[in-house]
Amino acid sequence: MPNRKVTYRLYPNAEQEARLQETRGLHQRLYNTALEERIRVYQETGKGLSFADQCKALTHWRKTIPAWAKLNAQSQQVTLKRLDFAFQQFFRRLKHGKRPGFPRFKSLRRYPGWGYKTHGDGWKLHPGAAGKHGKLYVQGIGMVPFRGKARTPGTPVTCDILHKVGKWYASVTLKIEAIQRERGTEMGAFDWSLMDFLTIATPKGLQTVTNPRHLKNQMAEVKRLGQAVSRKIRMAQRISGKQKGFPVSASLRKAIQQLARLHAKIARSRKDVLHQTSAWLVKRFGALATEALDVKNMVHHGGVRTKGLNREIHDAAPGAFLQMIKTKVEEAGSWYEEAPTREIRPTQRCHACWRVPEEKKTLSDRQHQCPHCGVTCDRDENAARVLLRWLETRLAGLRGSGREPSEVWSGRSFAAMKHETHAIAV
Ligand SMILES: [Zn+2]
Repeated sequence: MPNRKVTYRLYPNAEQEARLQETRGLHQRLYNTALEERIRVYQETGKGLSFADQCKALTHWRKTIPAWAKLNAQSQQVTLKRLDFAFQQFFRRLKHGKRPGFPRFKSLRRYPGWGYKTHGDGWKLHPGAAGKHGKLYVQGIGMVPFRGKARTPGTPVTCDILHKVGKWYASVTLKIEAIQRERGTEMGAFDWSLMDFLTIATPKGLQTVTNPRHLKNQMAEVKRLGQAVSRKIRMAQRISGKQKGFPVSASLRKAIQQLARLHAKIARSRKDVLHQTSAWLVKRFGALATEALDVKNMVHHGGVRTKGLNREIHDAAPGAFLQMIKTKVEEAGSWYEEAPTREIRPTQRCHACWRVPEEKKTLSDRQHQCPHCGVTCDRDENAARVLLRWLETRLAGLRGSGREPSEVWSGRSFAAMKHETHAIAV
């Protein structure tokens, strides 16, 4: 059974808010103390502490520190586990010849919250009617009202309590029953871009899906607020004569907070849009292809415009989008493939003659003009058509087996074939 994450917004009263803050502070101190302990023991003995060692130490600490004894023990173990994970990551990178940063002490500001690993141990979810809204019991804090709804109902497993830009959230993992999602019948390939969001090529023609207006408006608002923040920072720098460590005025603090809130809001609406769009794609298409996105690569080769573009690439979250499609495709049992970018080169290759021009397109070239066959079209349109042709070839390769591509994605036989293709998501 697969797991899903659902985030609920918590609405604590003043007293609960104070206790939540206190709990967060106690977990932060536990994290830092455990880190200090690891460093101390290593310096004294030359040996590291394991997660199990630290759980033993925790039992001792709980006996001697009254404030810690009041916290849920399992949630404290989760905090120790997070530190252990930071060390594992550190050693893994070290082993791979990288130069990782040593796990750091965390200030309260950089400490978002804590977690629980078993439902009923320290927390309990009480969803409202039809699974919408409800109350979350948190040990030592009480019944906290929440708003939100799981897209798919399930059994609660783990819970993380998070504090972000002045607001509290509970991120709950649900174990869900296998879903049967409606499967589409069409064949299509799509290219993702900053301008149009999606350009979809089908055997019948072309379709573009643009970012919804409310998202564009919010982006414009972010730009405006961002400029206001920079202006205020420049002014504070000029008045104090300091580049760093200048006094932060109330109005600057307020502007920064507004900006952070809007960023969080955009992230939420974008996630909604990505969920809706991926559901729509899977409902319509039985066979779907796109390019395997190498975000890191795109970011590194951004060139002069890197700064602004980086932000846009990350905001658009192509990785998250493709992951949503993969999950839904599995639920529907449809066909999904990602074309290997280096081999196929959908942006560079010509969809009409399948040749790759010598002169490379850069990020700013919005047109595809083939020097070989003379075809001219929009850059994203070309990429989508290249991907569609690639998908058709992949599916045509199955014709030898006596099956038509249409049977492959609507018939029962296809589950067995899934394992033969390399690009299908696991
Ligand atoms: Zn051509």
